[in-house]
Amino acid sequence: MIIVIKPDASEQAIEQLKRNIENQGLIVQDIKGGNARMLGLAGEVASVSPDSLSRMDIVESVLMVREPYKLAGRRFHPRDTIVAVGQAQIGGGHFSVIAGPCSVEGEDQILSIARDIAKSGAEFLRGGAFKPRSSPYAFHGLGLDGLELLKAARQKTGLPIVSEILSTDHLDAFAQDVDVIQIGARNMQNFSLLVEVGKLKKPVLLKRGLSSSLEELLMSAEYLIKGGTEQVILCERGIRTFETATRNTLDLSAIPVLKQKSHLPVIADPSHGTGHWQLVAPLALAAVAAGADGLIIEVHNMPQKALCDGQQSITPEVFHNLMKKINRVREAIK
Ligand code: PEP
Ligand code: MN
Repeated sequence: MIIVIKPDASEQAIEQLKRNIENQGLIVQDIKGGNARMLGLAGEVASVSPDSLSRMDIVESVLMVREPYKLAGRRFHPRDTIVAVGQAQIGGGHFSVIAGPCSVEGEDQILSIARDIAKSGAEFLRGGAFKPRSSPYAFHGLGLDGLELLKAARQKTGLPIVSEILSTDHLDAFAQDVDVIQIGARNMQNFSLLVEVGKLKKPVLLKRGLSSSLEELLMSAEYLIKGGTEQVILCERGIRTFETATRNTLDLSAIPVLKQKSHLPVIADPSHGTGHWQLVAPLALAAVAAGADGLIIEVHNMPQKALCDGQQSITPEVFHNLMKKINRVREAIK
């Protein structure tokens, strides 16, 4: 709900109205622009009566907002959110690439890949320490030891680290050690995890669920923002369709749709989106052309020996050439 305030309303009366609404458990955003003054309401707006609000002296009109994602949506927050970690920024015209292996496998592996991707221009290092796998017999990551190896690679390269959290058991470790906390596709609607991760007030990379609509993705972002963090990056990583030629179908239209509906940065994952290393570069370039604020790409120094997702991992050399093409596409669409 948006309350449009009359131009002659006193500051005292506006503050009183804000307090009254906040006392009912709602979040009030004060929007000022030129001569316009509006109050955006989020939360259980059904509990306030638009009729009694519109009868108030200082209220010009009351507009109902249809989207249920008030905090993640653009309506109350027209300006792009920029997610920043150190020097690296994503969103609001800033573009960044996150790269690294699907999972951290050892010290030499993660350090060698981190050094290579940094040289090619990646600004974040990814690596799973806790891996969600379909099979209980598959490699599930090195756990907390994996986080230690990521920290060592960060120290040697300066790259901030992105890693997936699977359980609230590890909140403290992630709060302390990880720069961007990834919530994977399988956990996009793990609402209790979203609430707890939001409370950490750290940057979060939220991946779209395998069969989630964009509205559902934005509602999950809403949980994070309501929990306490405004630093949320949305990630299109492919959805389940009838097509079997690719692991998932990378929904490129999600990029402009999300950017239209939300102020949050939107990145694409052409690795999980396609499942085949040969398809990563063309889809990465297509995502950039579609307006993505960044990419997350799986890179492995020995993809044929990778413990997870080797078939969709590109080598540092292929990544280097891709980064050059990404820059050319970005120039072309300026
Ligand atoms: C990953 O990034 O390695 C991963 C498991 O991604 P997703 O949650 O998109 O499947
Ligand atoms: Mn993976």
